[in-house]
Amino acid sequence: MIRLAIQSKGRLNEDSLRLLQDTGILVDDAKRKFLGKAANFPLEVLYLRDDDIPGVVADGAADIGIVGLNETAETGAPVRILRRLGFGRCRLSLAIPKSVVYPGRSWFEGRSIATSYPRILKKFLDENGIQAVIREIRGSVEIAPAAGIADAIFDIVSSGGTLVSNGLREVESVFVSEAVLIGRENLSPEKQALLSSLLFRVDAVQESRGKKYILMNLPTPQISKVLELLPAMRSPTIMPLAAEGWSSVHTVVEEATLWDTVEKLKEIGAEGLLILNLDIVVA
Ligand code: ATP
Ligand code: MG
Repeated sequence: MIRLAIQSKGRLNEDSLRLLQDTGILVDDAKRKFLGKAANFPLEVLYLRDDDIPGVVADGAADIGIVGLNETAETGAPVRILRRLGFGRCRLSLAIPKSVVYPGRSWFEGRSIATSYPRILKKFLDENGIQAVIREIRGSVEIAPAAGIADAIFDIVSSGGTLVSNGLREVESVFVSEAVLIGRENLSPEKQALLSSLLFRVDAVQESRGKKYILMNLPTPQISKVLELLPAMRSPTIMPLAAEGWSSVHTVVEEATLWDTVEKLKEIGAEGLLILNLDIVVA
């Protein structure tokens, strides 16, 4: 049995549960439960506040966890980063009142900065030789300047909307974060084997994200052009069609450039394109 800690509610909860679901592991949606058990994999799920996850994994009360890289760095817990998961993207930035003219990092010298991330902030200030007062507050950091608590803030930014609505301006982006799968050191051989099997599934799920399966009919002489067009396509499946001089080509394409690809394929004579969702790719 391996134990995974995830956020019980909040921004990472849904995506963490979805990742488990995509790996085919069935856990009951135990929002109010503390500990759940998967139906078809030897896995327990511990639902926690995100701040507690790195420490709980480091202590061994859980073996692995899904949490923001920001929380992992802030706690300084001795855990291994096993995988970056691509969701929960945000950054930790310094922001100042928007009316202030910003001459550069030296502006922070001697100022006070409110944050829930004192450790990451201190590292940045030290690296830049800046002496500033760090005011640690737990929540509502963005109101600190208006409330006279601090001159500036150091906080999570994703779109920047919260900063703008509080009359602040992002001036330094310091730390880039996303959700990560963390693990403790020294797992037993049994847990290590379960972890490997889980990582295999996670990798397959990640590999499949953002991809589509495409099928098309193409005049056979054009096949070399398709290969030029889609260099990522290492070995497309090519099959002769019943109609003389035509082939069917199947391959995987990136969703982000799907429509550009479709246009180019049409230009070189592709017909009858079918674009399908792709569940899992196992390399
Ligand atoms: P908890 O109750 O579990 O302590 P929380 O309020 O501390 O929750 P959330 O706001 O749910 O935390 O955010 C969890 C994580 O989601 C953050 O630590 C960060 O890694 C990530 N995240 C991504 N985008 C944002 C954002 N715009 N604001 C806040 N967190 C974000
Ligand atoms: Mg928290």
